[in-house]
Amino acid sequence: MNTPSVVAEMTSPYVENQEFPGIVYPTSVTATLEAFRRSFPDAERLAPEEDGGAAALTVHSPEYVDFVKEGSGRQEGSTKFPLNVIAVPALKVSEPRTFVGRHIQYFFDEITQATPSVCQGALHSAAAAQQGARRLARADRSSPGLVLVPSRPPGHHALPTVGGGLCVFANAAIAARELSRSGRVAVLDIDQDHGNGTQAVFYDDPSVLTVSIHAEGWPHVAGFAEETGGPGAPGGNLNLPLPTGSGFDAYLPAFETALEAITRFEPDHLVLALGYDAHREQGFGLLRLDVADFGVLGRRIAGLRLPTLVTTEGCYGYYDSTAEAADAFFAGWAEGWR
Ligand SMILES: [Zn+2]
Repeated sequence: MNTPSVVAEMTSPYVENQEFPGIVYPTSVTATLEAFRRSFPDAERLAPEEDGGAAALTVHSPEYVDFVKEGSGRQEGSTKFPLNVIAVPALKVSEPRTFVGRHIQYFFDEITQATPSVCQGALHSAAAAQQGARRLARADRSSPGLVLVPSRPPGHHALPTVGGGLCVFANAAIAARELSRSGRVAVLDIDQDHGNGTQAVFYDDPSVLTVSIHAEGWPHVAGFAEETGGPGAPGGNLNLPLPTGSGFDAYLPAFETALEAITRFEPDHLVLALGYDAHREQGFGLLRLDVADFGVLGRRIAGLRLPTLVTTEGCYGYYDSTAEAADAFFAGWAEGWR
């Protein structure tokens, strides 16, 4: 059997007790890891290394990275959330003087809370994304590999200077930045929501193609089809928004369009931002995929024959469909590879 030259996972880049209100992240990451191990039982396990925020600095501002580092060192439970203020520019008169004051400046919504464990998870995930990318870059080009970085918190909504949408550091973008040192990179985002953070990082960078398939809507100020890249990278971004309630019959043609664009770009590496919230019982039902559909996605992505790094984005641990979709996806990938 033809096997990939590298199949690897980071062992524990997330923090066990990390959670956002009502959304239990570690459960969904555990389901992804278990699914990956079922399909790739002999996968290499990479031990994550601490990097003091260096990986995050490759796509984020020093001030924002410093803020997250400060958050990681605070005492659990020492900060009261929610914050109830969004720092729109018109509001600001003075510089903030407290951690909570700075927090308001660094997150574009209230649901994203820089608890110590979330900040520690963000630093771990960013380092793991870069480390996983370095491992993939060393893979034998004649037989592409697959590296899973089970990132928590997720990353695809995090912008260079602010986080939000439950995302702190842009893990997929950090991996793509690292891989772009050794060639062209395509990022494919199949989370139900627009990968606005990844898009923002590479909007004017011709070495990285960003593609997102998502339900139209959130975050309401990005994610539209006419956002096709900045002056330095025309055609470097592809958004494929789908009407609310779309099922796989509408999703599949968009997915084919995404794969065609990636093939045309001729990347050396692929970064996949993998979410399961396009499943019909998740993500408020904005998209209506079934478990088996994730198997098709995995199979087709493997068919690109590109060395691929996977980061984990949205999925909700309290649904069985998370584990089932993860199983279907990686089994599909393994099958598509053969
Ligand atoms: Zn999502």
